[in-house]
Amino acid sequence: MKKAEISFMKSFFKKKGYLSGEVNGNWDENGRRAAYRYKREHGNLSDQALLEEIQCYGKGYEVKKEKGKRIIQYRQEDIVQTDIDYTYDRMSDNLTALKMRYPFLDIFSIGESVLGRQLYCVRLGTGEREVSYNGVHHAIEWITAPLLMKFIENFCKAYEGSGMLRGYPVRDIYQDCSIDIIPMVNPDGVDLVLNGLSPENPYYNDILRWNTSGLPVSAVWKANIKGVDLNRNYPAEWELSKEFQEEIGIFGPHYAGYGGEAPLSEPESAALAAFTRERDFQLVLAFHTQGEVIYWKFLDIETPEMRAIAKLFSQVTGYTLEETPYASSYAGYKDWFIQDFLRPGFTIEVGLGINPIPITQFDTIYEQTEELMLLAPLV
Ligand SMILES: [Zn+2]
Repeated sequence: MKKAEISFMKSFFKKKGYLSGEVNGNWDENGRRAAYRYKREHGNLSDQALLEEIQCYGKGYEVKKEKGKRIIQYRQEDIVQTDIDYTYDRMSDNLTALKMRYPFLDIFSIGESVLGRQLYCVRLGTGEREVSYNGVHHAIEWITAPLLMKFIENFCKAYEGSGMLRGYPVRDIYQDCSIDIIPMVNPDGVDLVLNGLSPENPYYNDILRWNTSGLPVSAVWKANIKGVDLNRNYPAEWELSKEFQEEIGIFGPHYAGYGGEAPLSEPESAALAAFTRERDFQLVLAFHTQGEVIYWKFLDIETPEMRAIAKLFSQVTGYTLEETPYASSYAGYKDWFIQDFLRPGFTIEVGLGINPIPITQFDTIYEQTEELMLLAPLV
């Protein structure tokens, strides 16, 4: 069993009260004991039936037994799981479940990854003021996907419930604004990092060659599956970025930092750029890890509005504002957005420590950034 599947199973047992100890990717005594007890107390379930129940759970259902019959019904708990390795499959299942529970949600795809995975977008709201948030340009920064997914869920819950979230009127936001959220820009990279390098991967040999780090892909891989760093692939001083890359010895596909053969050479970045041009975003947020820092400038482009909003975002998150742009980080999504639209664009670096940021930091990160996501359409 893959680590991601184990953490998913353990999360299920934990929610059902069968697991003592932490949710992690190790199939240990705690996991085995939980599985044994669960199966025994649910009519001696077979392994197959147990796996089906867990899959159902991810899709928003649960299996109940009534009068000797197994009945599948909607489950009541929160849908988005924030204690597991959050794979593309988990996200897809969670999106299906969210759509069932909140039929007003608008979920669509803005394109496909290299390996044909969907680049999902969720639109919150029907209003004229358009903003957009995205996560996981960089594969090992996958914690930003459940971050955005949890926000979507909490927003919907508040919309149907009290109408308020953290003191913000979500029904007004829904009516006046449209928040387009792309939780996972790099799904192939996330699959590589969380499920490991499969011999069936068409880039199997390339990836072994491109990962010169001496560490496993799960610890270092930021690029898409073709070894292109999607956040160095936008037409914003792309050539200059390339010079920096060559200075540090990156001339071709690499686990991180290679900007590609040409700007927007990759289907993921091309799709996001095309979608951005189609819409009329007043502001964008690109979520990355780590550092608890907000980058808000590109070159010396600055408007009073940008600075004021950046200060506000720093206040509500407690994150530091980075005054000077990080010299070697040109050709990113927010750089391109600021350059082409002269509107505020931000890179939000969540979490503290060494990438990949462990999922155990999730609650802290969510607590720090939920208000930012509510405030951004209103500034
Ligand atoms: Zn990043």
